[in-house]
Amino acid sequence: MRYLPLAFDVQDNSCLIVGGGSVATRKARLLAKAGARLVVVAPQVSAELQQLVASTDGEVLFQQYRSELLQQVQLVIAATADPEVNRTVSVDAQSRRLPVNVVDSPELCTFTFPAIVERGPLAIGISSGGSAPVLARRIRAQMEALLSPGIASLAELAARMREEVKAALPEAKRKDFWQWVFSGPVAAKVEAGNVVDGENALLAALQNWQGSPAPSGEVYLVGGGPGDPDLLTFRALRLMQQADVVLYDRLVSPGVLELVRRDAERIYVGKKKEFHSVPQDDINQLLVDLAQQGKKVLRLKGGDPFIFGRGGEEIDKLAEAGIPFQVVPGITAASGCASYAGIPLTHRDHAQSVRFITGHLKQGELDLPWRELASPGQTLVFYMGLTGLQTICSQLIAHGMPAHTPVALVEKGTTSEQRVVVGDLNSIPQLAEAEAVEAPALTIIGGVVSLHEKLQWYNPAK
Ligand code: SAH
Repeated sequence: MRYLPLAFDVQDNSCLIVGGGSVATRKARLLAKAGARLVVVAPQVSAELQQLVASTDGEVLFQQYRSELLQQVQLVIAATADPEVNRTVSVDAQSRRLPVNVVDSPELCTFTFPAIVERGPLAIGISSGGSAPVLARRIRAQMEALLSPGIASLAELAARMREEVKAALPEAKRKDFWQWVFSGPVAAKVEAGNVVDGENALLAALQNWQGSPAPSGEVYLVGGGPGDPDLLTFRALRLMQQADVVLYDRLVSPGVLELVRRDAERIYVGKKKEFHSVPQDDINQLLVDLAQQGKKVLRLKGGDPFIFGRGGEEIDKLAEAGIPFQVVPGITAASGCASYAGIPLTHRDHAQSVRFITGHLKQGELDLPWRELASPGQTLVFYMGLTGLQTICSQLIAHGMPAHTPVALVEKGTTSEQRVVVGDLNSIPQLAEAEAVEAPALTIIGGVVSLHEKLQWYNPAK
């Protein structure tokens, strides 16, 4: 680390910006936001920059740079298009021991601007010391995704309450109190947008603080999507980072699992067809038990937890036991596979509706409303339909669906191993066997499948 990150208080300090164009304006915006008073010197200054300067009670000097201007300022930025001027500003500032930044010239800087993630009073700077600003910006985008917008309100609440907490609690108890504030119900309420309730909970706890209550457990029922980790929601990722323990099953891809907090305990409760490694009742009970031990329990599921995921049964038990939980939707296999295979699920020319159907055999049988399913103008998506594929195809044909209706099997959709096998109702059972299609695979039936050839696109996971 060559550059030490510091948080500089520029409130009411005068900052000199040499230059009046768009680069100068960018820096001016940042400094103005942090409460600095701006002095801008340049023969020409954009209207936007002039406005910014006025908003800080600063001044615009329509003239060339002169070193005397450095006498009244605490910070210096050179942002002109003339390398000579920039160099002179840097040399002058350094000879006066003033911190100076020359835009895009790290060798002339005594400090650089990090990429900034801002949430109210909270600021995170990511610095590469000028060596890889684009990488720093990419990391910033990742941080943006991890921090809920509500965390700004939490930081603001903490700032408002700081003195009150200081007055109410001796130093030895304060840290414990703040830890509870930031990890318990106060944070949960405020981050969810309910600042008033959060503040009330904080005040109530402060009045009678006996030390941290035992942590209260909760369950996050999270949809992990069909495979590609890029398809996770921001909220899923945030909760995955907070969990103490994770229960996951076979459909959760390794790439998704890798994003769970490193030191979280991992429990595999996967199911294979005909072989339930952990019976559903035991999973339900385990969720209750772990939460009652005060743990933050992540129940991570493939796709969406409410689509053929038995998510409803799991939270039913939690609700009965009075355990707080939240459900985070995920991209279901149908959406993921369809997109990544270039098969729109509805299309004006082919399908006005789409049905998600379980193809799971019960005692070798599939009890489905075949006549309805065979009617035209819809797309059928069968989950768990590989073993029953022959039955599905023959039943649809028997109930009037044309045998040449196109069918796609999407194997391991959205992952780097995705395969798409296309045929029709007649040919697909044999094709599936010949191509040795394996689970997880999704069956898509209908006219929309004919678009696959034309609409398939470059899959970034491949
Ligand atoms: N809750 C899940 C579905 C669970 S049922 C969701 O919303 O996606 C399991 C079935 O989903 C599998 O048998 C398979 O048909 C389908 N499936 C899940 N992930 C898949 C993937 N990556 N590619 C193809 N099919 C998938």
